[in-house]
Amino acid sequence: MITRREFLAASSASLFTPGALDPRTPFAGAPSPRSGPAAVVTKDVTLAAAEQPWYATMRRCGQLNLNERDPQTLDVSSWIDYWASLKLDALLLNGGGIVAFYPTQVPYHHRSEFLGSRDLFGELAAATKARGMRLVARMDCNYAYEDAVKAHPEWFERNRDGSPRPHGESPWLFKTCMFSPYFTDQMPAIYREIGERYPVDGFFTNGWPSTGDLTVCHCENCQRVFREKVGATPPDRVDATNGYYRKYYDVYMDRVLEVWRRWQAVVTEKRPDSVYVGNLGGGIRTVKNVKRLGEVARWFNADHQGRGGDTVIWDCAQQGRVAQAVMDGRTVTNVTGAYSNSRPTWRHVSKAPAETIMWMAQTAASGMVPWFHWLGGAPEDMRWKAVGRDFFTWLAANEPHFRNRRSIADVAVLYPQRTIAFYRSGTQPRDWRGAERAQTADYLQGLYYALLEGRVFFDFVHEDNLRPETLGRYRALLIPNAAYLSDNHCQRIREYVAGGGSLLATFETSRYDEWGGDRFDLELGDVFDATAGDVASPAGNSYMRIESRHPTLTGFEETALLPGPEQRVAVRARGVAPAASAPLTPLTVVPYYPAFPPEMVFPRTPRTDQPAALFRENGRSRVAYFPGDIDRTFWRSGNPDLGLLLQNTVRWLRGTDRPPVSLDGDGIVETFAWETEPGYALHILNYTNPNMTRGFVRKFYAIGPQKAEFRVAAGRRIKEVRALRAARAVPFTQDGDIVRFEVPGVTDYEVVALT
Ligand SMILES: [Zn+2]
Repeated sequence: MITRREFLAASSASLFTPGALDPRTPFAGAPSPRSGPAAVVTKDVTLAAAEQPWYATMRRCGQLNLNERDPQTLDVSSWIDYWASLKLDALLLNGGGIVAFYPTQVPYHHRSEFLGSRDLFGELAAATKARGMRLVARMDCNYAYEDAVKAHPEWFERNRDGSPRPHGESPWLFKTCMFSPYFTDQMPAIYREIGERYPVDGFFTNGWPSTGDLTVCHCENCQRVFREKVGATPPDRVDATNGYYRKYYDVYMDRVLEVWRRWQAVVTEKRPDSVYVGNLGGGIRTVKNVKRLGEVARWFNADHQGRGGDTVIWDCAQQGRVAQAVMDGRTVTNVTGAYSNSRPTWRHVSKAPAETIMWMAQTAASGMVPWFHWLGGAPEDMRWKAVGRDFFTWLAANEPHFRNRRSIADVAVLYPQRTIAFYRSGTQPRDWRGAERAQTADYLQGLYYALLEGRVFFDFVHEDNLRPETLGRYRALLIPNAAYLSDNHCQRIREYVAGGGSLLATFETSRYDEWGGDRFDLELGDVFDATAGDVASPAGNSYMRIESRHPTLTGFEETALLPGPEQRVAVRARGVAPAASAPLTPLTVVPYYPAFPPEMVFPRTPRTDQPAALFRENGRSRVAYFPGDIDRTFWRSGNPDLGLLLQNTVRWLRGTDRPPVSLDGDGIVETFAWETEPGYALHILNYTNPNMTRGFVRKFYAIGPQKAEFRVAAGRRIKEVRALRAARAVPFTQDGDIVRFEVPGVTDYEVVALT
């Protein structure tokens, strides 16, 4: 666990000696033994709070996103009054990039047509600083006007036919190329101009680099990159089966980090405590390597503003878990759109207030800093204002309890980024496993939902962060079909299990190397005690037969059959681990038989000796391997047997160890437990809602009392337990290091502080 002192040391190292930190590590598959700033440990140096970068202690952020016309009418003082009423630490306001909101002298930096004689950014900067808020200049590096295309054709992305790429909705703007001097000359010139004229504390770029797909541009710079570094033009879409894509992926990530580091250096030329903030996010659906991004980012901003369609409500908490997995306690913010960023999007009306509250609550619960965002300086809809102010003033009133030192979870879920980004079942472009690309996250989603229902306290660990210092914090590691793992990833997992850690893994975990090269067996087969054959074709109406009783089968006493996973790897037990107990196969496969018509619905092979699960025990370590995709099948079918099987298995993995925190009661909740500066905090998010899996949440449905057991440090006497949202003391008892209390009920969100 990273200590506060290490955190301070790491933060200040980032601040004062940027050159001392080499954020580059060998790419996935060979994580560096010293991967990232969090590993910088200074044992004998205690740094004062004043020496931390200012953004390390920031707890509330806001943003007014100006449009080109705003300089005509913007009322600076009333806006600054509003943002100050939210007790913000930092405010983001538009500096420039696409549009300059000040009288810039940088050529081809387009001044707002409506700027007139005003220096709007200057007025805003002075007013922001006068109210004691930090100011971050919001920039956009992604588009510029046609006059720049004519003067600097080399700055812009090109199609195969050489034409520049206009913006889809605003076609007078053209997309700039990340490999061009626009990023290395023009943007730094703008940063320097703003930094010299105005008291800014940092710079944020909208839209770049993002965590999504790579772009493929055909400008002259990019063609040279393809020739010299890639070997050929890479495919336009994600395709890790293609060798040129693989090379381009690394070259692309290298360029992102190079630009990021260069901009960080530029913005700190005059102000050593300034910071460059890129635009990340993507929730659990990322393509770019977030671990590498986390190594260069001093501040991880997730531009993950809301959800649309059938996206689940916990999408924001998942964003927090991904970001925490790569930032190790360093600053993470998450933007909440106050406007209706659904599909379709309405920029100028408010989102449903309950949805906005739940998004901000997830941000805070998962240890991120809320960043409240409105577009346009002349709103006609004011409903969003009170929603943000009420939540932020409550946060401010309880601020010490949101200063987290560490997560208390003792279960880790491996975040299988490369599987989510690249997973294929064949070599054809459309061969995503499960038929569509979106399904690559369903394995994780199914496990996640089972953990919510089972009320397990857990963290994500990124597959490139499986260092012993990281995994050693956890009693069990859960792997939702990490099909694509490098030899090195597998070796780290093997060592974790050999050291007494428990493991759950599903389906094709470790079947392929980090780029999807088929190993034709499971690299972790020695750990699972399994040898893999082919993947059985996706099929419903297959079963798992209960052959013998086992703790993972508690609750299934009245049935001999459980629903079978839709996809499974045919496996046989190796039985080659003399040091361990023989593998147990209490569940066997009953293969598919017709589901229609009813006359034909009977098992042709009612019993096999093929394992549907393999359980091993070796000292403290317990290993459960499910050759089927029970996680994904649970998510897609909703059959609760599969969720219960996963929950029972997590319980069994612990052996006799008790979880550090438990919470019993009705309702679907997501929980986080943190050690905080003043003590401890238990966060409970109430998702019990008809709009849990389809937005927006319109109102809350309160849940009743929740019984909690919370283990505190040995010798720590708890003096008060307080429900911060209900604003009242909670009766409690303490028995040794176990504190017991009952949370009286939760409407939207509750934070119980133990001090
Ligand atoms: Zn280009």
